[in-house]
Amino acid sequence: MCGIVGYIGKREAFPILLSGLKRLLYRGYDSYGFALINNGKEIVCFKKPGKLDNWESRLLKMKFEGKIGIAHSRWSTHGEPSELNAHPHWDCQKNIYLVHNGIIENYQTLKSILEKEGHKIISETDTEIIVHLIEKFYKGNLERAVMEALKLLEGAYGLAVVHKNQNRIIAARKGSPLIIGIGKGEMFVASDAAAILKHTKKVVYLKDGEVANITANKFRVRNLDGKKVEKEVEEIKWTLGQIEKKGFKHFMLKEIFEQPESLENALRGRLKQSKIKLSLDIDINSIKRIIVVSCGTSWHSALITKHLIEGFTRIPVEVDYASEFRYRRPVVKKGDLVVGISQSGETADTLGAMREAKARGAKTLGIINVVGSTISREVDSGIFLHAGPEIGVASTKAFTSQLMTLSLLALYIQQERGNKVNREILRELKNIPSKVEKILENTRAIKKIAKKFKDSKGFLYLGRGVNFPIALEGALKLKEISYIHAEGYPAGEMKHGPIALIDKNMPVLFLATKSCTYDKIMSNIQEIKARKGKVIAVVNRNDKRIRKIADYIIEVPKTEEYLSPILNTISLQLLAYHIADLRGIDPDYPRHLAKSVTCE
Ligand code: GLU
Repeated sequence: MCGIVGYIGKREAFPILLSGLKRLLYRGYDSYGFALINNGKEIVCFKKPGKLDNWESRLLKMKFEGKIGIAHSRWSTHGEPSELNAHPHWDCQKNIYLVHNGIIENYQTLKSILEKEGHKIISETDTEIIVHLIEKFYKGNLERAVMEALKLLEGAYGLAVVHKNQNRIIAARKGSPLIIGIGKGEMFVASDAAAILKHTKKVVYLKDGEVANITANKFRVRNLDGKKVEKEVEEIKWTLGQIEKKGFKHFMLKEIFEQPESLENALRGRLKQSKIKLSLDIDINSIKRIIVVSCGTSWHSALITKHLIEGFTRIPVEVDYASEFRYRRPVVKKGDLVVGISQSGETADTLGAMREAKARGAKTLGIINVVGSTISREVDSGIFLHAGPEIGVASTKAFTSQLMTLSLLALYIQQERGNKVNREILRELKNIPSKVEKILENTRAIKKIAKKFKDSKGFLYLGRGVNFPIALEGALKLKEISYIHAEGYPAGEMKHGPIALIDKNMPVLFLATKSCTYDKIMSNIQEIKARKGKVIAVVNRNDKRIRKIADYIIEVPKTEEYLSPILNTISLQLLAYHIADLRGIDPDYPRHLAKSVTCE
């Protein structure tokens, strides 16, 4: 997962690497490190476990010099976060330094070969063997040595390599994202455009199996067979302002408050005179079945998609975790449309699942936020969320934009297949951004509930129908940023087991807005009250019935049932955020997590 930044040019590299790395911390933050070539004479390397913020002021005083450098923030896969395991890693002679994102699956085999040949491998990482392999093949040409080494690797990598005596950075990718940034007399390497946006908007996206040889003034890209590859220079659309906190305490809070705008952007240009305009290169009429694959929060979007598409179009929809789908020999055939949902467009499992689906003859459609990402490039067709950069590790605005986009997709399929389009829902889509704004205008009740329950040992989230996935999402949000155990459950299933958990200390959050199962939910609330559970209910304004029996209520505006997940989830994001904040946890950097999961 991790973040990689590299710089080569006329300026001092260290401040550029440091600020770039800070932009990438959402990708991994258990350790970090830098290597700089100091006037072509020596390499200075500094690496540490822990948070970069704790070291920043000291690092700036240390005055690392050098106009070529690479940096890394780590999300450990092999070996604990420690100074030894942090990147960069180096060879026996301390000439070559390397940073790596991904997992090398055959590193044990390669390690024993290298050790027999006399290489001293000092860390527990899978990464270190790469730099020793490069050392083994190095005969004065760094690019060639890297290529030889890469041919032996199984697994995934995005990497950047420097050599003490070479004025260049060699970068390569297979499975983990990497871009080259092009400046004037300077070049950059990064896992993500956010790291270099301050310096350039011109980028080149490396593809799997490509190796770039980068000097201050030019770059060239080859594949592993040494064949030159022509690359297109592309322009990044995001601005620097979009990746800053803008006065909010955390990125997560800023992104929650950006939702009226991001939802508006998801609709922009896609609704014209009651017609849905999506340019998809897919024959909608030939679809026999839809399979939606994704991970984490995006998997919750997938569950809601099933309701939307089956409800509107009667096309059967299956939902699968991408990581399960790809390894169980799924039945996929021509006539199937496989939809992959991923904010980053780099989620390794979703990417793998989409490749599997394509290989089995299905058409693929990506629902992606990051333009230029790997999934967005590989699918037959795609819809971008246009939510802007999402930095907070816990997804908020990307999730609601997914729901908005998937609602549009379901209605679009309905329209293209000649069915009568659901007019009420179509009309209501346009009202959603302002209704979200209404929720954000008054968050007092949510803060009060957060204060009351911040020390709870556990939480239950219950919903039915389209709001059952919102119960799962609410629970996931709380777990990931507050470390309180939480479970999402279909409200009707409580009596088949989990109701045994209820006592006077157990907060139970109900998604109880108006729906076809409203009366059933009422009974489920009574069942919890009868066992002295504490009930928090998300209800529509002026709901007098639930107000009478719930301990706490959170009010949201009324909307169409199919769209209610978008409004209901906002309160749950805020509840998780405030509980985490009150517990003194930084929700932008929850322990053990990274934003885009680019390894399996
Ligand atoms: N597998 C490598 C390690 O554990 C790289 C992890 C990463 O992508 O941050 O060091």
